[in-house]
Amino acid sequence: MQDLGYYNGKIGPIEEMSIPMNDRVCWFGDGVYDAGPCRNYRIFALDEHIDRLFRSAAMLDIRMPLSKEALRELLNDLVRKLDTGELFVYYQVTRGTAMRSHDYEPMPGNLWVMIRPAVQSGFDKPIQLITAEDTRYFHCNIKTLNLIPNIMASQKAKLAGCQEAVLYRPGGRVTECSHSNVHILQGGELYTAPTDELILPGITRAHLLRACRDLGIPVHEEPFRLEELFAAEEVLVTSSSKLVCFADRIDGRPVGGRQEKLKDRIRQAMLEEYLSATQP
Ligand code: PMP
Repeated sequence: MQDLGYYNGKIGPIEEMSIPMNDRVCWFGDGVYDAGPCRNYRIFALDEHIDRLFRSAAMLDIRMPLSKEALRELLNDLVRKLDTGELFVYYQVTRGTAMRSHDYEPMPGNLWVMIRPAVQSGFDKPIQLITAEDTRYFHCNIKTLNLIPNIMASQKAKLAGCQEAVLYRPGGRVTECSHSNVHILQGGELYTAPTDELILPGITRAHLLRACRDLGIPVHEEPFRLEELFAAEEVLVTSSSKLVCFADRIDGRPVGGRQEKLKDRIRQAMLEEYLSATQP
């Protein structure tokens, strides 16, 4: 298959799938998701993503319709149906199917999967960013489907010819990006926002922190501000779909580019981990 949609056991090309109108996702966006890349039919960091999906679901009292092991097995089986092993693998669980009502009866969630071709590349090209006020609510640590502010910020970045929007709270505290985490290097050390309810605890963020510690780069999980972002030696952006990228411009102003060696070592370490974990 060229791409694949899955809904509660039904499988087909994505464009041919249809979903019941009363899936609570249609009325409320009532669900959680996770996603990551696949290479050589091997899904990268799958257990970490599945753990986060189950954590997101538990925080919203959404009942998972299958065990972690069964989900892992299902996803590994589904990727094998695709014509290529270079893929983006996305899965979500919605609260269930019922007539529209804000409150709910406990019921098994609906499982969706979407798989399509995607090649990881472009790690060595600098990216450009904008800043945008973070107007989201206070559950950003839960990977919910309610992404309207993220979508608006992402579109604003695109219209500005940039790849991402760095979000900040009133007062200037940098949180994360619209669909990535953001970090800075200063004095040869890494600074990244702590994993409270203002950011998504990114799987790639966790890999970056491990890579830095392995390389002897001190890591500080503490809030930093817009002024520090603009003054940083390097600005890093991480996500499952792009691994790690470095920014050379924010709001049209030049940033980073002052720790070239460290930047290359970090990028190399993360790339090597990804390539070796996804060998045939
Ligand atoms: N923050 C947000 C808001 C995101 O949507 C994502 C992408 N899932 C990330 C951070 C990065 O997380 P990960 O490294 O797990 O893909």
